Amino acid sequence: MSRRRQIYEGKAKILYEGPEPGTIIQYFKDDATAFNAQKKGTINGKGVINNRISEHVFTRLAHIGIPTHFIRRLNMREQLVRQCEIIPLEVVVRNVAAGSISQRLGIEEGEQLPHTLIEYYFKDDALNDPMVAEEHIACFGWASNEEMQDISSMAIRINDFLCGMFSAINIRLIDFKLEFGRIWDGDYSRVILADEISPDGCRLWDMVSGEKLDKDRFRRDLGGEEEAYQEVARRLGLLQDDGNPGEVFDLSAHRTKLRGTPVKKK
Ligand code: UDP
Repeated sequence: MSRRRQIYEGKAKILYEGPEPGTIIQYFKDDATAFNAQKKGTINGKGVINNRISEHVFTRLAHIGIPTHFIRRLNMREQLVRQCEIIPLEVVVRNVAAGSISQRLGIEEGEQLPHTLIEYYFKDDALNDPMVAEEHIACFGWASNEEMQDISSMAIRINDFLCGMFSAINIRLIDFKLEFGRIWDGDYSRVILADEISPDGCRLWDMVSGEKLDKDRFRRDLGGEEEAYQEVARRLGLLQDDGNPGEVFDLSAHRTKLRGTPVKKK
């Protein structure tokens, strides 16, 4: 483990060289950041849960034909993925107004959008990930028009799939962020889904109480973030019902009632 070469350390993950060429190991940390890393903290057990949730989601997306970088989970905090060239965009899909769109456009949080929106942000911490238009993406060559077609159609398919998956467990998918990469085969490349899908990059609200089950608990100091992440995993069937760790988990956690103010359902 210690002899592995570290490729990159991000805010929530560390990437190591994989065992074979073209592979990478993603290690999920408990570190949490918000507001472009101005707020820092840890959420105990988050890395273990995100590793498991992301494995589950990526595996299910592969079953509906979404190409992804995921190969297999290696252990509690690590997964083996295909190495790809990350496209420097954060692709945000929104079903309901929350967070930055509410602030920017003055739309009340929780308001259903007339239709699903896809937004693009240029991945650059120094610039605070500015929102960009497709014209910027084409103009600066961050992705080709063909790649953008693939990205937007995959984003819509992923959204439809995830909305169904979460609504089956009484969770409303408000918005989420995706990252894509390209893999090369000679002169040709194709776009695959990369990074992770977990409560770190999604807004997930309980359908009945409106309770937030995602990183907004940390961003907004609502408390109960560990329990919220566990609750998502539990509802997905990845934790045993009594909150005891399944074979995969080693969390000595017991479920406590989520703190914070429940949002009244409209
Ligand atoms: N998001 C993310 N990483 C980012 C920015 C956003 O995972 O760097 C996710 C965020 O968790 C939310 C969605 O993308 O589910 C939309 O985020 P928004 O633009 O509202 O920004 P925020 O309010 O989180 O700053």
